[in-house]
Amino acid sequence: MSKFSIKAKIVLATTIVLGLVFVGFSIVIYQKAKSAYFGRLDARLEGYAEKIRGEVEEQYYEKRFPDAADFRDLRAEGLAGSFLRLSDQQGQVIFADSILTGQPFKPWDAINPRQFTFEDVAIANDRYRSLWARVEAEDRDRYSVQIVVPLTEVEAALKLLQLLFLFGVPVALAISAGAVYGIVTTAFRPLSAMVQTAERISASNLSERVASPETHDEVFALASTLNTMMERIEQAFKSQKQFIADASHEIRTPLAIIRSELEYAQKEIAEVASNESIEAALDEVDRLKKLSDDLLLLAKLDSASLTMKLQTVRLDELLADCVKRMKPIADTKRVTLALTVHDVAEIHGDEDKLRSAILNLLDNAIKYSKNGGTVDIISRSNGRDVEVTVCDHGEGIAPEEVEHVFERFHRAASSRSQHDGSGLGLAIVRRILEVHKGSVSVRSKIGEGSTFTIALPGPISQ
Ligand code: ADP
Repeated sequence: MSKFSIKAKIVLATTIVLGLVFVGFSIVIYQKAKSAYFGRLDARLEGYAEKIRGEVEEQYYEKRFPDAADFRDLRAEGLAGSFLRLSDQQGQVIFADSILTGQPFKPWDAINPRQFTFEDVAIANDRYRSLWARVEAEDRDRYSVQIVVPLTEVEAALKLLQLLFLFGVPVALAISAGAVYGIVTTAFRPLSAMVQTAERISASNLSERVASPETHDEVFALASTLNTMMERIEQAFKSQKQFIADASHEIRTPLAIIRSELEYAQKEIAEVASNESIEAALDEVDRLKKLSDDLLLLAKLDSASLTMKLQTVRLDELLADCVKRMKPIADTKRVTLALTVHDVAEIHGDEDKLRSAILNLLDNAIKYSKNGGTVDIISRSNGRDVEVTVCDHGEGIAPEEVEHVFERFHRAASSRSQHDGSGLGLAIVRRILEVHKGSVSVRSKIGEGSTFTIALPGPISQ
């Protein structure tokens, strides 16, 4: 899985692409500007060179050659700030501006007779554009001319352009990255909201729906699809719950009838054998009734947020009440229930459901204790969180079973053969703790006993 979010990837990708485009554009624009600046300068140099040529030809014809003053006048019309040097074929200088005196010469053969030769030269720390050309007089190349103009203006303009790109490109990139981030964040906002809603949705609030954006785009399609899916899940869930509730009710009534009929028959029939089978049938009826009660309770707990009756519960009183209720069952096995309350604590919860959880734990602790054993029930509070441990010294749970005991219908192999039960008790305990935002855990050693620990935040804020 990539460590970047889609948002970061989009921003990164667009910034890279835009960066390449900006840099490419900058290079092209810079090159175009450079050749435009030099082209213009060269054209002006050429124009001036043509005038010099004409002047030289004229002067040669009139035999008044050379006249430096005329060149200077020409320059005033042609190319301000330029300097020139005129020499003959042997390199004898006929006229030279002081700046060009002593500067290296281009050999006669290196000067192209048909076109102008341009180059950049450095003279006394300044850079100049230089033109070399042959000058014709009476149909023969007789002289060479060099004209130079400073590159200061052109280079300053190009430098400015460079600076503009150097700062402009990063600024433009930062602005475009910010804009892309903004657009992507806006586009993704409905998605983030959907993720949050989807995370919140659980069995207890299946009626929630993800928000659909106003726009009829892909995100809208996704939201609609998710909502339709949620609708179907909710319907399936509702009908499943309804089925369990209906089934439990349907089973209960005939069970109650069978039970009372059996009880009546038991009283009337004197035969021991028939009485024993009626006794066994009554036990089965009780087992089925417990199973249907547990199933109904679990079904209700799955939508517990709708059926919670919240109130302030004194934990010490609740524990004492549970111990009192379980005493008759404990007495049948001569099991002692030892309650120790270290701190008196109040919690905010559904008293009936919490009682049901504790009774389930006590029932198991007694069931899996040896005859004459002790079950310790200890409650502690740190002022905020509450902890109740139910510790028996009975048969314990095999290590491979421990992680499964809270699963629905899970029963250890030994329990199946030796004890009654449906395998729903601990699943109910865990669900009750979940709806109270608490937890239940177990530590156990085979042959030494088990300790179930309930942790509850108190008081619970709903
Ligand atoms: P059951 O109706 O079988 O007791 P529970 O969900 O309450 O169903 O428990 C699941 C299984 O966990 C039991 O079948 C048993 O194997 C094991 N168990 C639960 N409590 C204890 C205990 N205190 N000591 C030993 N085993 C236990």
